[in-house]
Amino acid sequence: MKAYKFKLYHSKRNHYLVEQIRIAAQIWNHSIALHKRYYRFYGKHLNVYKLKKHITKLKKLPKYKHWNQLGSQAVQDVVLRINKSYNLFFSNLKARKANKTKRVVSPPNFKKSRKYKSFTLTQAGYEFLGGNKVRIGLHTFKFFKSRNTQGNVKTVTIKRDRVGDMWLIVTTDIEDTQPQINPRNGNSIGFDFGLKTFLTGSNGCCFGSPLFFKRGLSKIRRANQQLSRKKRGRQNRLKARLHLARVHRKVANQRNDYHWKLANQITDKYDVICFETLNISAMQKLWGRKITDLGFYSFLQKVEYLAKKKGKIVRFIGKWFPSSKMCHVCGVLNKSLELRDRGWACDSCDTYHDRDLNAAINIHAVGTSTANGVTVRPIAMVG
Ligand SMILES: [Zn+2]
Repeated sequence: MKAYKFKLYHSKRNHYLVEQIRIAAQIWNHSIALHKRYYRFYGKHLNVYKLKKHITKLKKLPKYKHWNQLGSQAVQDVVLRINKSYNLFFSNLKARKANKTKRVVSPPNFKKSRKYKSFTLTQAGYEFLGGNKVRIGLHTFKFFKSRNTQGNVKTVTIKRDRVGDMWLIVTTDIEDTQPQINPRNGNSIGFDFGLKTFLTGSNGCCFGSPLFFKRGLSKIRRANQQLSRKKRGRQNRLKARLHLARVHRKVANQRNDYHWKLANQITDKYDVICFETLNISAMQKLWGRKITDLGFYSFLQKVEYLAKKKGKIVRFIGKWFPSSKMCHVCGVLNKSLELRDRGWACDSCDTYHDRDLNAAINIHAVGTSTANGVTVRPIAMVG
C-alpha cells in the first residue's frame, strides 16, 4: 500500500465535502450512543453487522434521509473505524488485566463535528476523471496533481485539516518497499540524540537543530497568546484559531522536510545505523516537554522506512545501556555524571570526553558488536 496526498483547489463546491464530513460525524456520534446504550442493556459489545443493518434502516426514515448524501461506503467506514477502535480498547483492557501493559487505551467517544476530520470511500462513490479531476459523489473537484499515482486505487479519503483546507488522500495497492539498488559501502555509524545538537555521529559529524525550529516555536507561542486573549464565540477568536493552525502546519511541514532530507542523507551514506532506543518519558523528565517539538520518534520512523527501502540496517541498542556514562576508551562508568556536564574526564584513563560524542561512539560500538554476537558491557570501576 502506498499513500498519496493531494491538496484540493479552493472552491465554493468544497462545502459539499464539508457537509459530508459533518454527516459522517453525526453517524459517528449516533453509533457511539448506540454502542453505549447497547452495552448498558446487554452488557455486551454491539457487533458490526447489527450496527450496519441498523444504520441502513435509519437511512430510510425521513429524519435521517440526509445521511444518504454520504456515500454508503463512507458510512460503512465510520462503522468499521468505531469497531476497530473498540477492538483496540478491549484488547488493551485484556492486556492490562493480565499485567502485560500499563498503557491505557480509551474507548472511542463522542466527537465535536468541528473536530471530525475525514471520510473514506473504498470501491465506489468516486471516479478519477483524468488529469487533475476527481468526482466525489455527485460533484467534480480539482486537485493539485503533484505526482502520478501508481497501482490500483484502494481507498480515497477526503480530509479537512485544521486550517480548513481540503486534502485528497489516495492509497494504492503498489508495494512501496521494493528495495532500491544501492551500492553497499560497509560504513556504519552510531548517533546520539540531543536537545541542542539534534544528532551527534560517532565519527564526529553533527546535525544541529535548524534555526527555523526555534523561530517557529516562538511564532506558535505568540499565536497561542493571541488566541487566549480573544473572547469565546467571537469572529476574531475563530481567526486567531485559524492563524494558530496555520503556523502549526507550517512548522510541522518544515520539520518534516528537514527530517526527510537528513534521513535520506544518512541512509545514503551508511549501511548500518545505530541509535539508542528512545525513552520519551525519561527524555521529557530530563529536558522538559520541549522534546515533543523535535519529533525524534517521527524522525526515526522515516529513517527506518528509508533504510528498508534502500536495504540498509537500523539497529537500536537497549534503553538502559549507559551510553553517556561509559568511557568509550576503557569502559569504566562515570557514575557522578550529571546532565549539565557537557564534557568529562575519565578517572581511569584520563581521556577527556565530549558527552554526546562519547555516547555516540558507545552506541556505535554496541550496535555493531551485537551484530557479530559479541556484546559490549560496561566495566564497574574497582576501588
Ligand atoms: Zn576511560
